[in-house]
Amino acid sequence: MYYSVVTEVYERIESTTKRLEMTDYLVELFKKTPKEIIDKVVYLTQGKLYPDFMGIELGVAERLALRALAKASGRKEGEIEEDLAKTGDLGESAQRFLEKRRQVSFFQKPLTVDRVYQTLDKIAKATGEGSMDLKVNLLAGLLADASPKEAKYLIRTVTGKLRLGVADMTILDALAIAYGGGKGTRDIIERAYNLSSDLGKVARALAEGGIENLKNFKVSLGNPIRPMLAERLSSPAEILEKLGGKCIAEYKYDGERIQAHKDGDKVLLFSRRLENITSQYPDAVELIRTHVKAKEAIIEAECVAVNLDTGEMMPFQELMHRRRKYDIAKAAEEYPVSLFAFDILYVDGKDLTLEPYTARHKVLEEIIEQSDRFQLAKYIIVDNVEDLEKFFEEAVEAGCEGLVCKSLNKDSIYQAGARGWLWIKYKRDYKSEMTDTVDLVVVGAFYGRGKRAGTYGALLLAAYNHDNDTFETICKCGSGFTDEDLKSLPKMLEPYKIGHRHPRVNSEIEADVWFVPRMVIEVIGAEITLSPIHTCARDVIRKGSGLAIRFPRFTGRYRTDKSPEDATTVDEIVEMYKRQLKKIEIE
Ligand code: ATP
Repeated sequence: MYYSVVTEVYERIESTTKRLEMTDYLVELFKKTPKEIIDKVVYLTQGKLYPDFMGIELGVAERLALRALAKASGRKEGEIEEDLAKTGDLGESAQRFLEKRRQVSFFQKPLTVDRVYQTLDKIAKATGEGSMDLKVNLLAGLLADASPKEAKYLIRTVTGKLRLGVADMTILDALAIAYGGGKGTRDIIERAYNLSSDLGKVARALAEGGIENLKNFKVSLGNPIRPMLAERLSSPAEILEKLGGKCIAEYKYDGERIQAHKDGDKVLLFSRRLENITSQYPDAVELIRTHVKAKEAIIEAECVAVNLDTGEMMPFQELMHRRRKYDIAKAAEEYPVSLFAFDILYVDGKDLTLEPYTARHKVLEEIIEQSDRFQLAKYIIVDNVEDLEKFFEEAVEAGCEGLVCKSLNKDSIYQAGARGWLWIKYKRDYKSEMTDTVDLVVVGAFYGRGKRAGTYGALLLAAYNHDNDTFETICKCGSGFTDEDLKSLPKMLEPYKIGHRHPRVNSEIEADVWFVPRMVIEVIGAEITLSPIHTCARDVIRKGSGLAIRFPRFTGRYRTDKSPEDATTVDEIVEMYKRQLKKIEIE
């Protein structure tokens, strides 16, 4: 097929503002296109050569395209530059200069779509020494054979400026009409797209095998599946009602969603937006390789930076270091990620997307070799508001955003690419900040691991309850300690070590080591939250719940000037919590 057939349609698309007309033009184009190149025509129409997830961009710099144009048109670069300054569109300049081309070669061969595609592909993939000249020559070669109009679109395509505005959904509509037998088949085609994120592949399968072929379309390794998304409700009662009185509630981890494709030893990671992020998480790749027992699998997990010495989850921002190429190795060493798997879409040749969630969850549980670093998302099966609320508090306190509650019904398939009611997220509708530091008493400790082996990984801290002269736990704190602190802590705490919980300490948590309440340290946190685990102010704000500090961190100040009875009191913590809430209302 000649490239001119395609550019004629581009021109018509550009001249219309009506989506329906745009679809009609595309239908016409697709009908004319030979089946073997329908994928290429689809990509080119969106200004690409491959689906986005392959990360292969055309993006030739304007400067370079200008050099190619000068070569093909026999003009000086300066002349073209001047024209470009006026039009702002090198495509238009190309059209103009080729119209005025001085010599037209007798050997000019009309461009075919195939040749355009192959050449652009070579341009996109050229790297290393001499690649700039190669790109210029390849492009100049195409321009030399192009009509002025074709040159306009070629230049726009290579510089990433072909902005026809043809959305994915418009292409799906056009495919349904051109090859599916009518708009009614749109859902089947869309599902294939949701399972592959590749419009070219879908178009080809449809053109070659008809709609019947697409009905059996399956997920495949290497093609990211468009993610299933959750609706949102703000009360546990509503959530339970919506899900039929019973659901599986999972921690909503606050990290980065990844979709891992494992094919033997080869692992690919895709982001929520389907970018290939494999190189950002070498540690996650290794975890998938070593913990997934199946040979082939597609798994979804939340990737979270965890302080391995203490087991504490780090705030989401910690993952930002993974965005900068040069920091990845360092970040992976300092804060390696842990994975919390929450779905499986494919295993050893079997597409699981149409299985109910209970079945998928079971497979997931079977094929993951769980460890500290790779676990199933923490979950409970729940049918009452109290337990759901408690689990929610526990999740928030642990550093999660809240819960994702999922349907247990038979129809709970994986709805690729859709936001639906099979998953409902339950997040807090406020966000607050803890502005003051607090002085807390060290009542227990947990042994460290990894770099912290031989010292403490975290301390169990308590506030003072003046009314009954006890110490009530409020957080486990493992952040903010320098290497010096860590080295001296066991020695500093040695004199207070006892073999059991001190009678004045009120704790439901089992520490590895207990202390006589004596040492006071200064701590700051992100906020004060309700907690089902800690005993501080138990039942005061809500029955069955205490208060906890989220993301606590030692400020570096040992309050040797304070006795444990001078530490921040439970009453003060309650006041801080209430103030925090008032602040939120004002905001
Ligand atoms: P948000 O910004 O609230 O994460 P979103 O639009 O990215 O919203 P939603 O589908 O609304 O995504 O919420 C679910 C998101 O929560 C997932 O995209 C995923 O990254 C994250 N998540 C964390 N833990 C889980 C879990 N156990 N199950 C499903 N998703 C989870």
